[in-house]
This record gives sequence, C-alpha cells and structure tokens, in this order.
Amino acid sequence: MQGKTPLGFSDRFFEQELKPWLPEKVLDFHTHIWQRDQWIGNTGSTEAVNDNTLFAPEEKKEFQKYMSTATEYPVEELQRDGAAAFPGLKYHAVVFGQPTPACDHIKTNAYTARAAAAADNLFPLRVTGPALKTSPEELRRDMSENGFYGYKVFLDWVGDEYPPLTFDDMLTKDELRYAHENGLIVLLHVPRGGRLADPEVGESVRRLALEYPGMRLVLAHCGRCYRYEEIRQALHWVADLENVWFDCSMAMDPTVLAYILQRKDPRKMLFATDLPVAAMHGKRVNVADHWVDLVLPGYTESHYRVASDNMRASFMIHEIAKAVIIGAELAGVSPEDVKRISWDNGMKLLGSVRKM
Ligand SMILES: [Zn+2]
Repeated sequence: MQGKTPLGFSDRFFEQELKPWLPEKVLDFHTHIWQRDQWIGNTGSTEAVNDNTLFAPEEKKEFQKYMSTATEYPVEELQRDGAAAFPGLKYHAVVFGQPTPACDHIKTNAYTARAAAAADNLFPLRVTGPALKTSPEELRRDMSENGFYGYKVFLDWVGDEYPPLTFDDMLTKDELRYAHENGLIVLLHVPRGGRLADPEVGESVRRLALEYPGMRLVLAHCGRCYRYEEIRQALHWVADLENVWFDCSMAMDPTVLAYILQRKDPRKMLFATDLPVAAMHGKRVNVADHWVDLVLPGYTESHYRVASDNMRASFMIHEIAKAVIIGAELAGVSPEDVKRISWDNGMKLLGSVRKM
C-alpha cells in the first residue's frame, strides 16, 4: 500500500463495512480473463498491440488510452483477486475473454472454456457477434462442446470511439434465435455515448428483448449508466421487462442502484465487478458530466483515470458492493434481498439456462 493507505486496510474495510451484508458465497457476474498470446499479432506487450495491422494509427492510440489494465489477466490472477477481495467467503465468477477486435476471439473463447472446465467456481460465456463470422453450425458446436452459458456480446470497435450501432447490429438473427430457444444469457455492453438512455439504443434493446423473450438479457454496468442523470433517462426502456437483468459492475454511485432497485424487481440485480478493472484500488466518481476513476498510483495511464496517494483506498470491488448496500437501503430493499444480489439471483439465472 502507498501513501495514506495503511497495510491491511482493505481487509478491515471489508470486515467492517461489507461482510455483514454479504452471503457466504459470492457470485461475480462480469469478469474477463485472457493470456498475452491472444492479442492479434501475438504481441505480448501493450506497446506491441500498437503494431497491430488491424488498426489505423489514430485508432491504435485510442485503444491504448481507454480502460488499459494489464497485458494479460490469466485465470489464476482472477482467482487470487477474488479471494483477496472477499476474505473468508467463497468467490465464484461468470468469465469471458476480451470482446474486442484487438483480440483473437477463437483463442480467447477456447481459453475461457478451458479455464472454466478446470475450476469448480467459474461459469463461461462465449464472445459472440456477427463480426466474428461464426456459422450457425459452428456456434452450436462450440456452445455445447464447451459448456458456455451464453454470450458476451462482441464489441466491434476500439477504445471509447463508439460507432453509431444499435443492439440489432451486435448479434445476428440466428444468434438471437438460438439464445431465445435455449434460454441463454446474453451479456450486453450497450453501445454509443448516450448509453441505454440513447433512444435508438434503448428502443433496440426493448424491441429485441420482447421479440426474443427466451433470451436472458443482462445489461452490463447498469446499461453503462454510472450517473444518476443517465439511469433516470434510461430505465424506462427495460423497467417492466421480465427477461432483462442488470449487472452492477463498475457502478459505484448508490443513487444509480437505488433508482433501479426502487423501480425494478431486486431479483433482477446481479453483483458484478468487471475484473481486472475493479481490482484497482480507488473509486469511480462522477465529475460534471462523466465518470472519473480515482486510483492509487502505479496503474497504467488511461482516459478518465486520475492517480493520487492522498487518500485511503480499497479495491473498487468493495466500492461496488458498498454502493449496492447503500442503494438498497435508500430503496427500502430488505437485507435478504441484498444478500440475494450477490449470490442467489445470479445462480438462479445460470441454473435456468438450458444446457445444449
Ligand atoms: Zn467488461
């Protein structure tokens, strides 16, 4: 630990502020794992990702600056961070690879499947989307042979340069139909600067959720609404939909959680982190019209990331859990329902997937 953060601070913070609210086992519904040889070009370093021939020079620069974490995050590190963040509890996670064009999706999916098969606490999702040009036969074979519980929807762009996509562009009709028929989980990071509040994004999410009611649609990062102003404009698109859940990864503003929990069944909220990002020590705060990650020194430079040792800080994972606890209290959610957010809700959802 550095600066003002004393040794053992995270453990004490967890013990005092979080543990009483958590069940004995936790399920983290949003985590990434990958190895360095999955970067296209087998580069082995974030500098070398720049050499990737897929990207024009200006795109390479953006890719490097947005949400940079590590060159690799193997499953062993995920297990280590999960155990460190929840001392004394049994950590479980929904895992998937790097869903970007910078990464070889066949390798990243195969690694996810292998890692999950070798563990008793991991549930794999397959990176899936039209840009990957998977045939219907290949999709079905890969899903059933590797025990995937659904898709992590592929993001066909780099960095925070969101193209004008809607949900319609992010999965093929066949991929949607297959998810509908088998009750698959579809974990979606909604596109565009306007997030779920963008009327075209919100409308496409609503329409496809209604058209494919068997699909279990999970909106990552609360529909990417990290700010009260965003969720207030976004929630109406999905508030009444039975087949739409929220994962609260990287959502650390209790007013966002409270707004959702007041208006949507608390059983549709899933605890999630977005590891490795949330392994950073610090907190995502809101400044004017955008989030900012306030972190201890030593992490890779990235857009909207401010480093300082002039504070005490714990895992961002802990700040997410704290936002859920406070948001639930503001919304009048019972302590039993709060515990269900970190285990039962997600396990029930995974258990309902028809394995092929
Ligand atoms: Zn993620």
